[in-house]
Formats: sequence, structure tokens, C-alpha cells
Amino acid sequence: MIAIYPGTFDPVTFGHLDLIERGARMFDSLVVAVAQHSPKAPLFPAAERLEMVREAAAGIPNLTVALFDTLLLEHARQVGAGVILRGLRAVSDFEYELQIALTNRKLAPDLETIFMAPNNNYTYLSSSVVREIARYGGSVEEFVPAAVVAHLRRRFGQSPA
Ligand code: ADP
Repeated sequence: MIAIYPGTFDPVTFGHLDLIERGARMFDSLVVAVAQHSPKAPLFPAAERLEMVREAAAGIPNLTVALFDTLLLEHARQVGAGVILRGLRAVSDFEYELQIALTNRKLAPDLETIFMAPNNNYTYLSSSVVREIARYGGSVEEFVPAAVVAHLRRRFGQSPA
């Protein structure tokens, strides 16, 4: 069974990586699909978001990382995925995630959405919080891999740590 884990990954955090590791253990292969365009107006260009996921998840053998710029369902079909993997953190994620999952089910009844909870430590972690801390020079080492810290510092014109 192939699963697809879509997202903006702006940037990838330890919360995403926790899900990636769980997903890679659970499915024969996992495709991390980085959305080229996002209504969230990402901080990082798509190619850099992809590169950060690749760097952070290097070493997981049954994992591929790809950009997509189509309807997620089309991309899922292209890669042969039967499952969409999404993360649920607090209750605040629930309504949004349920809406997407039920809409996707209407459009593609054969594709199942599976939700995973991250490790407790990452329940309140989001890319947007990381971006805001980093923007003002705060420390984000606890939240993202070292390679991502370097990308953030460069993006905000801060000297390397
Ligand atoms: P999107 O723009 O599609 O929401 P994100 O990159 O913000 O993209 O998130 C992708 C998926 O990863 C979503 O299902 C989100 O709930 C999940 N996610 C994000 N941060 C975490 C975290 N800390 N723990 C678990 N899941 C997370």
C-alpha cells in the first residue's frame, strides 16, 4: 500500500517528520507531496520547501518526496496511492481536516484519508509558529532540524548560528 502525505511544509518541522517516520513504518511506501502553490502564500519557494523535506528525511528508504501542482487526488492517482495521510494535532485541526477528507471522499471514494497523532511533544508545533519565532531571531532548534534552521536564518538575512 502506497500512502501520500501532502502539505505545504513551509518549513518542515519535527511534527511533520514524526508523521513521516510513522507513515513510512506503516505503509510499503510513502510519498511526501509538497504543494507547489498554497493559499497560505508560503515564505519559502516550492523548490526550497521540497529540498528541506529531502534533507530532513534522508535515510528513510521507502520514502519519496515530490512537488505537485494539480488536484491532490490526481497526484495521488499518478503515484498509485490508496491512502492520504494527514496529521491531527489539537481539536483546532479537526474541522478543517474533516472538511477536506469528506470532500476528497466525494471526489474519489476509493482513496481513504488516515489521520495520525504526532508525539505529544509536537502537538502544539506548527510551521507558522516556527516562522514567527525565526523572523524575530528566536531559537527554533527544538522545533526543526539544523538544516532548516540554516534555511530560516538565510531567509531572514540573519548570520549563521
Ligand atoms: P497544509 O497547508 O496542507 O495544512 P502543512 O504543511 O501545514 O500543510 O501540514 C501538512 C499536514 O501535516 C497537515 O495534516 C497538518 O495537520 C500536519 N501537521 C503539521 N504540523 C504537525 C505536527 N506538529 N504534528 C502532526 N501533524 C502536523
